[in-house]
Amino acid sequence: MALKDFFIYLSENRTLNNAAQRYGLRLGAQNVVAGTNLDEAIESIKELNRHGISCTVDNLGEFVFEKEAATAAKDQILEVIERIHSEQIDAHVSLKPSQLGLDIDVEFCYENLEEIVSLAHQYGIFVNFDMENYARLHTSFDLLERLSETYDNIGTVIQAYFFESIENIEKYKNYRLRIVKGAYKEDPSVAYQSKLEIDQKYIELIEYHLLHGKFTSIATHDHNVIDHVKKFVKEHNIPNDKFEFQMLYGFRKEMQLALAKEGYQFCTYLPFGNDWYGYFMRRLAERPQNLTLVTKQVFNK
Ligand code: FAD
Repeated sequence: MALKDFFIYLSENRTLNNAAQRYGLRLGAQNVVAGTNLDEAIESIKELNRHGISCTVDNLGEFVFEKEAATAAKDQILEVIERIHSEQIDAHVSLKPSQLGLDIDVEFCYENLEEIVSLAHQYGIFVNFDMENYARLHTSFDLLERLSETYDNIGTVIQAYFFESIENIEKYKNYRLRIVKGAYKEDPSVAYQSKLEIDQKYIELIEYHLLHGKFTSIATHDHNVIDHVKKFVKEHNIPNDKFEFQMLYGFRKEMQLALAKEGYQFCTYLPFGNDWYGYFMRRLAERPQNLTLVTKQVFNK
């Protein structure tokens, strides 16, 4: 089994996910997860805000198969929104529909999402629907469309590895979109598998949305893509307020600060909470070098 597949397998292992929650941040996850509670996350956001960086806050959670857990996740996200508002920090929310009951009952998930989006709307806070695996893609888009009949403070993610993303980017061009390469293991019948093809499609999608879409979040740690975007926006006179760069908390910190300093809008994806294991394993799957996060921790202790 390739290393990537091995970490994806670990990320999907429910028993290990549950076990990890009992032990707090371990294995180096503390480098890429901004604490286990909201107070710690708020402090990290304030620190990034001081450097001109905004944040998209992810109250970590996956493998939600009971309504109680989904309701608890909803309540925690409502609390995040209240705190963003009361502390007047520069942040918005990212969430995963599966965390709010997508795999249990779609109507129940819709109601949870509506409560969140409605509160955020009152405060003028944006809510991003993260995109998960292919099996959840169409239901997630459906939920987004239904909610956007009433609310305009929502957007989602387009994953470059899906064949259909080229159609979806056109279909959803009037949304604020985060464009990513794609983090899950997908079947060759629905997704490109080679890095070369994914990288090419990624650039195509970014260029399309920069030219024709609403606001674009270019979410990548790939300096080649970032350099390309810098040149592209200059050549096409795309103003800085039409796009931002995004990276994950803890990754390429120097580059995050440098981009903000250069005057680009920059937003850090800031995960926090006990349910860090699946998120962390996907980061290891993406880039074997991220294993240095683990080894450093293991050998330093
Ligand atoms: P990669 O293809 O991983 O890396 C390209 C090159 O960049 C590498 O070869 C290396 O030279 C350089 N590089 C990358 N990382 C580093 C590093 N840490 N240090 C030094 N050099 C580095 N995926 C989803 O499926 N759904 C989502 O909702 C989603 N949301 C995301 C939100 C954000 C803010 C980000 C940043 C990613 C998100 N992802 C999401 C994950 C995404 O799909 C990719 O799996 C992940 O970003 C890895 O791809 P990459 O574009 O960063 O570059």
